[in-house]
Amino acid sequence: MIEIEEARRLVLEHVSPLGSESVELRAALGRALAEDVTSPEDVPAFDSSAMDGFALRAADTRGARRDSPVTLPIVDESRAGHPAGSGLGAGQAIAISTGGVIPTGADAVVRVEETRSEHGLVQILSEVEPHRDIRHAGEDIRGGDTVLESGVRLGPAELGVLASSARSAVICHRRPTVWVLATGDELIEPGQPMRPGAVRNSNAYSIPALAERAGAEVTGVTVVPDDPDVTRAAIAQTLECDVTVICGGVSVGVHDHVKRALIDLGIEEIFWRVALKPGKPTWFGRHEGGLVFGLPGNPVSAMVTFTLLVRPALMALSGRRPKRRRTTATLDRDYEKSPGRAHAVRCRLELREDGWHAQPAEQHGSHILTSMLGADALAIIPTASGNVRAGERVEIELLDDG
Ligand code: AMP
Ligand code: MG
Repeated sequence: MIEIEEARRLVLEHVSPLGSESVELRAALGRALAEDVTSPEDVPAFDSSAMDGFALRAADTRGARRDSPVTLPIVDESRAGHPAGSGLGAGQAIAISTGGVIPTGADAVVRVEETRSEHGLVQILSEVEPHRDIRHAGEDIRGGDTVLESGVRLGPAELGVLASSARSAVICHRRPTVWVLATGDELIEPGQPMRPGAVRNSNAYSIPALAERAGAEVTGVTVVPDDPDVTRAAIAQTLECDVTVICGGVSVGVHDHVKRALIDLGIEEIFWRVALKPGKPTWFGRHEGGLVFGLPGNPVSAMVTFTLLVRPALMALSGRRPKRRRTTATLDRDYEKSPGRAHAVRCRLELREDGWHAQPAEQHGSHILTSMLGADALAIIPTASGNVRAGERVEIELLDDG
């Protein structure tokens, strides 16, 4: 058995980013950039007004007060998208709206609230300093600057910045394709009538959802009975995908056929069995065209091992840097454990005055799938650790997808 950290290292060692393709901006949410992006132009592109009001020379407002306003002629208008036709001379004002181009000759904007205007004249009711309410060209982005680097995952803010930078499409890494196989004679689908000894196929729903959340494209989900030939044929069919995820059948029982099938198909085993609870029988291997994970069938074990091992692989394949979303928290309940395997304990998190607290699920069984409901993090209790008392600090890995 190897440590979970070693398993993760081995997985990442066998992954390199997939090729790239051009993606329209609207389709690029969640994708990883495969290029550094520079902006060809300044953003904003010109000096503009931050307010509705009047563009003028600050010097012309000197001494202006509510009870002794300065009066200036309004010589033109600058609206958003419609610059003024002329520049501004001394002793003149140009009506301006938010986003309007600052006319040449003006060095400040006085807000409309600080003015009264009628018959082509504006009364300025207070002094303004030069640069007042002017947004300067290039304040957000300088033309030629790199705004986003390769490997960044595109979220809403990134898409907005790309649009500001004149990009309508970007080069992104390809999304990994994933095929999920659920094994077991006992499995029935949620829509089927219950029969004696049957188990509803929850992994066929939770695991593809985790894969999609991690940025993968799920190309197939199949159920495989506990039969060696059918298992081998079913796995063979998935090998055109970047990643095959098999749930169940990977232990040492007489009806577990996955390992044998993988060997028969010539898939190279990188590791089998991890010193982790839940998740001991986890298998990882590779072939020329992709990766294969064999996850334990128990629903919690499958989700936990996916999160700790498959998700980082999918992130790395899609060009993202698999970052560790780890921190520490105070454990809020005694946790019983004997040394020998690390434990991944699903927890709810709560922020209190003294920092983050982790509340372990009440039921630890790897078949208690409802214990994953509302889970925010996995507390990782190291292999050598024994019982952990409430109040001790533990390492946690956040479950939320970032
Ligand atoms: P296995 O890893 O095949 O020995 O399965 C371990 C346990 O997980 C057994 O109780 C199975 O019935 C259960 N199990 C396996 N696959 C699934 C699945 N797709 N959905 C729900 N439970 C499963
Ligand atoms: Mg089974």
